[in-house]
Amino acid sequence: MNILVINCGSSSLKFQLIDAGTEKLIAKGLCERIGIDGSQITYAPAGGEKQVTITPMKDHTDAIRLVLNSLMDEKTGVVKKLDEIGAVGHRIVHGGENFASSTVITDEVIKAIEECNDLAPLHNPANLIGIAACRELMPETPMVAVFDTAFHQTMPEEAYLYGIPYEYYEKYKVRRYGFHGTSHSYVSHQAAKLLGKGYEDLKLIVCHLGNGASVSAVKKGKCVDTSMGLTPLEGLIMGTRSGDIDPAIVEFLCNKEQKSVGEILSELNKKSGVLGLSGGFSSDFRDLEDEFQKGSEFAVRTMNAFAYRVAKYIGAYTAAMNGVDAICFTAGLGENSGFIREKICAYLGYLGITLDAEANSKRGVEIDITTPDSRTRVLVIPTNEELSIARETYALVK
Ligand code: ADP
Repeated sequence: MNILVINCGSSSLKFQLIDAGTEKLIAKGLCERIGIDGSQITYAPAGGEKQVTITPMKDHTDAIRLVLNSLMDEKTGVVKKLDEIGAVGHRIVHGGENFASSTVITDEVIKAIEECNDLAPLHNPANLIGIAACRELMPETPMVAVFDTAFHQTMPEEAYLYGIPYEYYEKYKVRRYGFHGTSHSYVSHQAAKLLGKGYEDLKLIVCHLGNGASVSAVKKGKCVDTSMGLTPLEGLIMGTRSGDIDPAIVEFLCNKEQKSVGEILSELNKKSGVLGLSGGFSSDFRDLEDEFQKGSEFAVRTMNAFAYRVAKYIGAYTAAMNGVDAICFTAGLGENSGFIREKICAYLGYLGITLDAEANSKRGVEIDITTPDSRTRVLVIPTNEELSIARETYALVK
């Protein structure tokens, strides 16, 4: 069965068509600037050439229509008829406490997702627009919602509660939710395969280090803690997000800078992290790595702080699980940067880790980067959130 995976943002829409049987990618692409002048669709059949077409898209329904037309194009298309797309899997950012797993989309499910809009006001409404557009154009095709938060719903109370008045949890569900769940789930399952062990026999720490970054602790096949919180702002130092800070900093800066809470929060989301720490130099780790090698002071402090924070979370989660069998690195930085992996692992002598320098120099491949005598394994596992969504979708509709 072919599964169309949709990741819909407010003005963009990424898609992949995946054969659920072989797990092979059939085609993929991206619509950009939806509803804005200069919108364009990029489409690439697997193994074929990428095509970029600038064409008006007044809304997401227009965008999905163009996606379907591309997939069914006489010359470069990959399917002949709409019914060759067996199901659609939608990435949904926030499922709150309503969803602990993926689910087939019905009117009730849409209502329950809407109830979570307050928790992710930038993302959930856009995800819902994508669902509505697909339902309009493919009314007979089953659809599944796959949530970024669902994998983390197994966290115990002591991990998800904040130390604030309990009534805020009762009234507003203010608690830790965590994100990147499809990635943490995919990577931890792949880790078990790579180690040749049962998923439920392992203690794993997954470091998803991309522009957004989070760590999770997966014990016996269940997520028991994760670094992102009510929103993706908490946890690691990220590309542009601050990660953990003393919440009193917000009021302090509002007073000093005569700014509103909203303005400071926007800075914490968009101008902080490695971008902010490097004095505005870059949010891209590649640029910072180059500067670090040249000895630039701003890059040294930024990369050191980034790696230290990751190492601190690994220590915390090792304690939370009373041990760890393997640490997994994934996403743009985690998959590609041997430099940052080595920097983080330098803190982990107490876990008896010895890196294999040659294996660690590889990029973007699934590999164990430790020597045979290393007491704890360190794995690089390229994430594949789309495949994870396709698997979940297929499992529910087949
Ligand atoms: P997101 O999906 O959150 O936007 P990605 O997982 O694509 O992020 O990761 C993007 C980050 O990964 C960027 O900051 C980029 O610098 C970093 N990255 C990608 N390739 C490399 C590389 N070869 N070396 C170092 N960093 C890299």
